[in-house]
Amino acid sequence: MNINDLMNISEPFASAEQMPVLFVGHGSPMNAIEENEFVQGWREVAKSLPKPSAILCVSAHWETRGTFVTAMDKPRTIHDFGGFPQKLFEMQYPAPGSLELAEETKSVVKKAEISLDDSWGLDHGSWSVLKRIYPDADVPVIQMSLDYSQHAQYHYDLAKELSPLRKKGVLILGSGNMVHNLRMVAWDKMNNPGFGYDWAIEANEKMKKQILSNDHRALINYRAQGKAYDLAIPTPEHFLPLLYALALKDENETIEIFNDKPVMGSLTMTSLMINGK
Ligand code: ZN
Repeated sequence: MNINDLMNISEPFASAEQMPVLFVGHGSPMNAIEENEFVQGWREVAKSLPKPSAILCVSAHWETRGTFVTAMDKPRTIHDFGGFPQKLFEMQYPAPGSLELAEETKSVVKKAEISLDDSWGLDHGSWSVLKRIYPDADVPVIQMSLDYSQHAQYHYDLAKELSPLRKKGVLILGSGNMVHNLRMVAWDKMNNPGFGYDWAIEANEKMKKQILSNDHRALINYRAQGKAYDLAIPTPEHFLPLLYALALKDENETIEIFNDKPVMGSLTMTSLMINGK
């Protein structure tokens, strides 16, 4: 895709429509190379998506002071993990970037001063998932960072301002995990997908209820939701991408939940698609 194509992104995508929004529980980076039910779930969802003009990914794995968007022609594939097989380190996701989308994101967001970044790239929060959704890496991708100095309401309000991008065929992808506590991982249950501690299941179920009843207020105030939430969200970075997705939901849109399962005791892979109208 060249600049002219992107300038005309309304062309194949009728302006009355909105691109769906995704929140994906990404789990282990191994999902980029392993075959399993979650990967299958991502592929299934890809089938129901119109082809986006570009993708804006908010990944749990890029936290900064202030908000940045990647603004390079060829974002590098970042292998931001350790202790995995060589095959995973060799994995590349050569999707082009999009300076145009980076500039446009900067211009639609008024809440924050968005800075253009030329050093990050695509971390595994984005490429391990996108490898499965768009294996040909033929859709331009930019990432937007999470400002670690800001609270949940700020992120939610900022996310709302991204809404006009949906009408231009941009797929906004939040990538994290609703329940994510690495300190409490049950390593002996690695090969037992479906195993979740009671608190993990309790938090996940309560989150789903709040999501499906549009109780965003409760989710933004996740610190006031009790012990199960405290264990499920020990740090906010894997949870905040969910708020980015939910903030973009219009009243008349529906939510489809998929990959709704715990893994390794203390994570859930629960994902959702907000259907554009
Ligand atoms: Zn992660």
